[in-house]
Amino acid sequence: MRIAIAGFSDETCTFCPEPTTIERYEPWALRGEAILDQNRGIPTYINGYMKVLEAEGAEIVPVTYAARGPGGFTSWLTNDCYEKYANEIADGLRNAGKLDGVLLSLHGAMAATGVPKPEAELVRRCRAAVGNIPIMVTLDLHANEDHELTDASDGVFVLKTYPHIDSEEIGEIAARCMLMTVRGHFWPAQALRKPGIVSASIYQASGYPPMKTVFDRCREWEKNGKVYCVSVAPGYAYADVEDIGMSVIAVTNGDQALAEKVVNDVSDLAWSLREAFTRPLPKPKEAVAEVMRLVAQGKGPIVIADGADRTGDSTHVLAELLAQGAKNWAIPGIADPQAAKLLQEHHKVGDKVTLSVGGWASEFSGPPVLITGTIEYMGEPQYEMIGPMMKGAKIREGFVARLNLGDSRHVGVSAHMRGALDSAALTAIGVDVNTLDIIPLKDRVHHRAYWETFGATSFPIDAPGIGPANLSILHYDNAPADAYPIGSKWSR
Ligand SMILES: [Zn+2]
Repeated sequence: MRIAIAGFSDETCTFCPEPTTIERYEPWALRGEAILDQNRGIPTYINGYMKVLEAEGAEIVPVTYAARGPGGFTSWLTNDCYEKYANEIADGLRNAGKLDGVLLSLHGAMAATGVPKPEAELVRRCRAAVGNIPIMVTLDLHANEDHELTDASDGVFVLKTYPHIDSEEIGEIAARCMLMTVRGHFWPAQALRKPGIVSASIYQASGYPPMKTVFDRCREWEKNGKVYCVSVAPGYAYADVEDIGMSVIAVTNGDQALAEKVVNDVSDLAWSLREAFTRPLPKPKEAVAEVMRLVAQGKGPIVIADGADRTGDSTHVLAELLAQGAKNWAIPGIADPQAAKLLQEHHKVGDKVTLSVGGWASEFSGPPVLITGTIEYMGEPQYEMIGPMMKGAKIREGFVARLNLGDSRHVGVSAHMRGALDSAALTAIGVDVNTLDIIPLKDRVHHRAYWETFGATSFPIDAPGIGPANLSILHYDNAPADAYPIGSKWSR
């Protein structure tokens, strides 16, 4: 049995300013055996495929895997970029000899110029290349998809967790379905329904209502012996695309009517919970005040989750921490290439400096903030991730300088946007995380996977930004008029 593996992935923030070009992809593109080598032992979709296929003695045919490199504020893929990798994958499959199936690792929130449904289009091109053999797809939970993808493919399987800690597991689920199907023990029948809800990522944590309520219903359905997998992708609100918003997908063993019944049931449940996907969150000023009050009561450490900042330079939280006199906090990075360059070229560890940071990338970033502190770290951090997400992944970052402003207040000034999904990103720049009361992150939900086990509480806020909790500040051109709450039917 020969199963091909390929992938083409992006979560495209179409509100970001720069197009995504081939140059943003090519340095990270993997071909042939390198796809397997780079994924082996790391909890990725592809490692999940490999584990199942290798254990069953299937031959794996790795083709091409393309995902955008880190950093940058990039938006729509150029048509050239899409065509290059979509055609390379289709051609690679066409030239791969006799195949029994194809597993595709996609994201689902790609936006490509001139290609309204990029994932469905890729599957159609793969189909044209390989003919009538099973093509199965794994997707991120932030996928925006519609029936075109389920029409084109034989099985679609979406992450069930946010933070995403089940990429490998969903890869295994897809690969097992593939093996059963190729062997003639399973006849995938799938259905998709869109409830019509668009939600900000910050409301989509899988362990809390409303998503937990929806996922619990899916797990109930999966107890039915004919229901193989029920997926809910709440979608990615920062891609202004026609198929934006939540999708419910069910894969059953040969029972189309049951698949339809499942997706209708789960969609109706999600729709009944729609208002919980838009509840108001505190703004930075009131959020910092409340966090300081909680810390004073001994309820720290607290992660301030500013999910709106996709450029990494937003200063709203930093400004409030300084104005309100908060102590014992560390911001992993304010992205500011110019400030970082100035520090790198003209200063050394131990220097006391005053400089303006952040507030340059977009109208939402807030004004630059003047900080004074002693440089305690300069360098290009290298570390291994230690949390449940991407455990063991080796990270190499661009330049970062960390300033200690006194009172255990730390600001990383970084060439690129910088997060801390686990403590390693802070430890790498010399911060003792055990001394922190407040951990301000530019993140929505992923940080919970590690920081909640660390004992920290997550405190989501609604700051201005390109990825806001309140979607009404964004202007959508392509979203359907009836998409709740952003469509013209609801908002105007
Ligand atoms: Zn995601």
